[in-house]
Amino acid sequence: MTDNYDFIVIGGGPAGMMAAGRAAERGKKVILLEKNDRLGKKLLMCATGRCNVTNTAPLQGFTEAYGKGGPFLRTALETFDNEKLRSFLLSHGVETVVENKGRVFPKSQKADSVLKALETYMRDGRVEIQTNTHVLRLISENNHVHGVETNHGNIFGHNVLITTGGLSYPATGSTGDGYKLAASVGHSIYPTYPAIVAFETEETWVKSLQGTPIKNVNISTYQLNKKIAEHFGEALFTHYGISGPAILDMSKRLVECLPNGFIQIHIDFKPNHSTEELDSILLNRIKRQGGKAIKSCLTFFIPEKLAPILLGLCNIEPHKKASQITTQERRKILKQLKGLHLTLLRHRPIEEAIVTAGGVSLDEVDVKTMESKLMKGLYFAGEVLDIDGPTGGFNLHAAFSTGYLAGNSVD
Ligand SMILES: Cc1cc2nc3c(=O)[nH]c(=O)nc-3n(C[C@H](O)[C@H](O)[C@H](O)COP(=O)(O)OP(=O)(O)OC[C@H]3O[C@@H](n4cnc5c(N)ncnc54)[C@H](O)[C@@H]3O)c2cc1C
Repeated sequence: MTDNYDFIVIGGGPAGMMAAGRAAERGKKVILLEKNDRLGKKLLMCATGRCNVTNTAPLQGFTEAYGKGGPFLRTALETFDNEKLRSFLLSHGVETVVENKGRVFPKSQKADSVLKALETYMRDGRVEIQTNTHVLRLISENNHVHGVETNHGNIFGHNVLITTGGLSYPATGSTGDGYKLAASVGHSIYPTYPAIVAFETEETWVKSLQGTPIKNVNISTYQLNKKIAEHFGEALFTHYGISGPAILDMSKRLVECLPNGFIQIHIDFKPNHSTEELDSILLNRIKRQGGKAIKSCLTFFIPEKLAPILLGLCNIEPHKKASQITTQERRKILKQLKGLHLTLLRHRPIEEAIVTAGGVSLDEVDVKTMESKLMKGLYFAGEVLDIDGPTGGFNLHAAFSTGYLAGNSVD
């Protein structure tokens, strides 16, 4: 077998492109194989096309964001941290800006500018790019990888990188091929499940609120009367249940708990006010708007569309005059404002998740190089690994940094 390439990269997502570019920059002969007709389909969808590339969190906090995957990522994050990523992008004409919670975006607010930077990086290093090329199998002998079999024939090289992504948004090309390739040479695959995902609720009234955001709310979640997670921020009603940043940020934990039973969520619409303070605000509004329907007194606390539903849960007719509301009815309203209940029945399918948790077991990959401990010359990077982070740019950064480390390590 003749080695035509130093490095064969399977998958043209952020991890694959970064790895290919870095290895080529080091003088390696690199080919990148992508089964779609273009590169970076998922990258272009990131943050609805704005692309939250990384986060400004300091290294310690950055590492901790990945939970049990953090220690594994440490070398990758040290080698290619958030500042290096931003400098890399700037050197390719992409200025970045920091938004709330340290989220970093291209100033252009266009994911396309990030994709172009990566394409330029690869072009400058003369990476050969072959689209519409589906890798079907790894070619190996005596525990050393020698190439890949594709729908267009075999390609040989002494290093192969699997950056095929996870299982979410399969239309972008992430269909779990990497797990099969890895398993075919003996790698263990940690069971996959959705992380950063929305939930279906028992309450069907959510459908009428589809697309309605609720801001600055505190959401606490319970199972069998035990608190499992809590988050302050924004949520969003959907036709099937609930989503939005606060829910997505807790979702991994909630998905892990769901097999033990349904989860109750309590929404506090005014977490900075005590029940007594809210009561005096409500009373004041009732006094001033006594002739109006009670539902119009609630717009200070909740979105207009939610008012009749919340009143329905209190058995109060939404058009009842505010002045006719009894003390007992007011107490019921306050109870809902401080803790509206929803029951989470199930999560949405993995195909709709932002990220896939689980994947290639980290125990079998060298943290310093991203090389397989089982097969010489085989590398992994990006979401195919058993790594996932919260929202905020952590998942793209994991892909960029592990890709960079792999490209930096191949011989
Ligand atoms: C809607 C959405 C929004 C997101 N927004 C953000 C965000 O703003 N910030 C953030 O940090 N993260 C975000 N993410 C997550 C982030 O996009 C992923 O974690 C990241 O793209 C993973 O990169 P990757 O290179 O590992 O895999 P992918 O981006 O999934 O790329 C894998 C590539 O491999 C190719 N491939 C697969 N199998 C084969 C094969 N057999 N042969 C050849 N090619 C193959 C695929 O076609 C694909 O192009 C978002 C995800 C989604 C779905």
